[in-house]
Amino acid sequence: MATPASIDMIERLIGFDTTSRESNLELISYVREYLAGLGVESMLVHNAEGTKANLYATVGDQDKPGIMLSGHTDVVPVDGQPWDTDPFKVVEKDGKLYGRGTSDMKSFIAITLAKLPEFQARGLETPLHLAFSYDEEIGCIGVRTLIAKFADMPIKPAMCIVGEPTSMQVITGHKGKRSYQVRVRGFEAHSSLAPRGVNAIEFAARLIAKLRDIAERIQDEGPHDELYDVTHTTVHTGVISGGTQLNIVPLDCRFEFEFRYIGDQDPDALETEIRDYAANELEPAMKAIHPDAGITIDCVNHMPGLDMNANDEVVTFVKSLAGRNDHAKVAFGTEAGLFQTRAGIPTVVCGPGSIDQAHKPNEFITLEQVSAAETFLDRLMDRVCEA
Ligand SMILES: [Zn+2]
Repeated sequence: MATPASIDMIERLIGFDTTSRESNLELISYVREYLAGLGVESMLVHNAEGTKANLYATVGDQDKPGIMLSGHTDVVPVDGQPWDTDPFKVVEKDGKLYGRGTSDMKSFIAITLAKLPEFQARGLETPLHLAFSYDEEIGCIGVRTLIAKFADMPIKPAMCIVGEPTSMQVITGHKGKRSYQVRVRGFEAHSSLAPRGVNAIEFAARLIAKLRDIAERIQDEGPHDELYDVTHTTVHTGVISGGTQLNIVPLDCRFEFEFRYIGDQDPDALETEIRDYAANELEPAMKAIHPDAGITIDCVNHMPGLDMNANDEVVTFVKSLAGRNDHAKVAFGTEAGLFQTRAGIPTVVCGPGSIDQAHKPNEFITLEQVSAAETFLDRLMDRVCEA
């Protein structure tokens, strides 16, 4: 059964409107004070404006590498969503707790906090590290400044569990993502003199067709990873704009594309192939007409993927906590890829609630999932505590 302590903490954390565009500092200072009350010191890593912060804290011996429990404190907006209740006030109904962030992912943070006094009472032999971030929902931005701090830390966490909603399934991988903005600069001319201009839209179309060719080649030839629903890397163009009116050869065309790659795909090689095509196949023809014409490709976000070996210690350890032997890979991105690739910390994703409820109106977590997370942490206690 879900304990009142967990439910009470979930209610408190949901009560802070930490939509990514807002400050998360009220929530962070609440957590910091709660931890201080347990004798645990917190380190805050703020954003440049000082309006948001990551919180990092170690419970137990500071001189030993321990187990990091990680989550993001921000939530997606509720704007325009038809909620039946106040999204920032937990409502319990039919065995479910409703509220923005109940699944994604304040409940994991709350249940962890609620359990800490028990961990302490039983005496931590292996420490717990808590890492609570901001701005996850807008591209895993916040946690990067925290990860940069790990480089200076004498003791790094030995492993990490990211408590995103997986219905307590153990997730060993998710795809990485790179997103790009492309600007194609043409050269204007009256459309009756089209060959004297450089048509930015047409060259953009060639590059987009090339992206499509690459996507189809990867689909046919792989690499494939059968643990994913879509078993291969995907390449996709999502936005385009360009041109002024029909009788002008367009000067400008902009579009955005992304690829979401599996662990066996080298994202640098893919990016190089795309850049080489633009530079060697398209730009010479453009510049032959006008030297100012050309193509600029900017990477605007890179979220590394997670790809843990199923035999890694963190995988078997977390399976034992979750009481199951299976593992899976998921379509959605998390901070786990950054912890693995940028901080070198073996990481899996495992947390209460379902991704099916995330980001939707009337988001909820079942009390059964709250209870499952408590059991998970009880098993962790058995492993890391003295008594
Ligand atoms: Zn999330």
